[in-house]
Amino acid sequence: ITEISPSVEKVSEYTREELIGKHVSVVYQNTDDLAKLVEMNRKFGSVNDYELKLKDKNGNIRIVSNSSHLLFDEDGNMTGTEGILRDITERKRIEKNLKENEEKYKLLVETMHDGIIQADENDVILFVNESTCRIFGYSEDELIGKVAKDTLVFQEDRHIIEKKNEMRENNLSDKYEIRGLKKSGEIIWLSVSGTPYQKDGKVFGSVGFLNDITEHKKATEELVKISQAVNQSPVVVMITDINGRIEYVNPKFTEATGYSENEALGKNPRFLKSGETKKELYKDLWDTVLAGKQWSGELHNRKKGGELYWEYTTISPVRNSSGVMTHFLAVKEDITEKKIKEQELIAAKEKAEASERLKTNFLANMSHELRTPMIGILGFADLIKELADNPEMVEFSESIVKSGKRLMETLNLILDISRIEADKLEVNTNEVNIVPLAKEAYENYLAAAASKNLKISFRSSADEIVSKVDEKLFYESVNNLINNAIKYTKSGEIKVEVIADKSKSAKKTVVKITDTGIGIPEEHKEQIFEEFRQVSEGFSRGFEGTGLGLTITKKFVEKMGGKITVESEVGVGSVFSIELPLVDVSLPEKGQNGESVEEKPVPENTETEILCVED
Ligand code: ADP
Repeated sequence: ITEISPSVEKVSEYTREELIGKHVSVVYQNTDDLAKLVEMNRKFGSVNDYELKLKDKNGNIRIVSNSSHLLFDEDGNMTGTEGILRDITERKRIEKNLKENEEKYKLLVETMHDGIIQADENDVILFVNESTCRIFGYSEDELIGKVAKDTLVFQEDRHIIEKKNEMRENNLSDKYEIRGLKKSGEIIWLSVSGTPYQKDGKVFGSVGFLNDITEHKKATEELVKISQAVNQSPVVVMITDINGRIEYVNPKFTEATGYSENEALGKNPRFLKSGETKKELYKDLWDTVLAGKQWSGELHNRKKGGELYWEYTTISPVRNSSGVMTHFLAVKEDITEKKIKEQELIAAKEKAEASERLKTNFLANMSHELRTPMIGILGFADLIKELADNPEMVEFSESIVKSGKRLMETLNLILDISRIEADKLEVNTNEVNIVPLAKEAYENYLAAAASKNLKISFRSSADEIVSKVDEKLFYESVNNLINNAIKYTKSGEIKVEVIADKSKSAKKTVVKITDTGIGIPEEHKEQIFEEFRQVSEGFSRGFEGTGLGLTITKKFVEKMGGKITVESEVGVGSVFSIELPLVDVSLPEKGQNGESVEEKPVPENTETEILCVED
């Protein structure tokens, strides 16, 4: 070193005296770099902006830029080197920072989950990050140079982008939601945050940060739907935390209880208790729900105004995605009205049952009280008839007997029904041949049929058909049906048939009473078996009777394990059938016309056909 400027003193912290005469390597860190500089100078005569590390007197390293050239004497001999040093330590630091920052931001933009799109003032895409490509399904090359709104926005929403671009020109930013269009044509929901892209205070386009919120949007819509449904629900919905503290009540809660939402939130639902519900019920409730099960039951609670009300409550535990119980959901329906009606119904039923018992007892008593004197009246009327010596007296006494018998029949029916209703009917079933029983009943009505000029016949498919019946009940039943057949037939024929049906499907006996009477309309076929019901009822009824015959017959038949059916056509006639279990004694069968199936001679008395003509 032969000379230095004061600035070298400053940058190297050495004084001029300390440096003059020293080898230049004293201020440099790396001698190799210095050797290179010397070599380049020798080779080219000069070197510009060669970077070197300068080591100052305190050992601190500074970066300097060296521009140097060779020095020559008059004869052209090289005498040395003259160099200018510029301290560029600060510039280097800034450059390094900038580079680092650039890399940092690049990484940030590329790895960012949000899509980033930069577009110019004509909405032409200048830059997209990887997420944008992922969201829309395009490659970067496919997007650069395209008009953003025409490529990436659902056509119905493109007008929104036009407005937004106008805003950006006015240097305005905003956030919005819009429907995007994927390369596949699929429409997606995007959340966009758009800002103007500025340089030196001038807007050059826009930058948008976007997110695919399709799933989120769907989930939100679903949530809104569900929460609206719960909000508008006609039943009370209450959600409590695991400790029973109310977190949510729907508006119906306020309507039902009188307590506002604020009055309920944070409280335990026990404030609704009326003291009317048993403690064990609450214990059962808590035991059930804390065990993770659903509980349902009726609670008797009190409204804010003090009024008691009934609710049907279902409480179920709510679990989070890990299966841990976090809340309880209670759905409550006000059943006060229903409860009142139920209680009224129970009271009405009890009352009806009481009056039914009263009626039955009354009927039993009355029929007994009436039957006893009736027997006296009938007996004496018969006696008068026997003793009467003039025809008028005979006619009067016959009239008494006839009316008396009718009254007696009615009384018997009433007695029967009251016995059935009081459950005092004794049923003694035995295996008996029902042919003679049915026939006896039939014979009872020969005179009655004759008096109405009706043909009446009896037929049985065998001489002996054994069924398990209570003889008295069976006999009464057949009597009732023949009685009705005659009563409701003006002209034509009554057929009484006893048939043993031995078909494999059902072994049964059928007693069939067929008439050519007035018939029963379809809508009355069920009703006629009910107590006191008749097809023609009220003051306009066309036939005598109590409406009890079929009720009693049905009950009798059912008590014997059988059933009664009716087929009928108005104006054509009716067929009433009693079906009873058949006891198979394997007797020969007879054919339709009375011939034995096994071609045995037909006993004379098994089929009777009598044409009854009046007088
Ligand atoms: P009642 O004959 O005393 O009225 P029933 O209980 O015996 O009472 O019959 C109920 C109703 O069924 C009768 O009133 C009648 O309307 C109808 N009914 C019963 N048997 C016949 C029949 N063979 N033909 C037409 N209607 C009948």
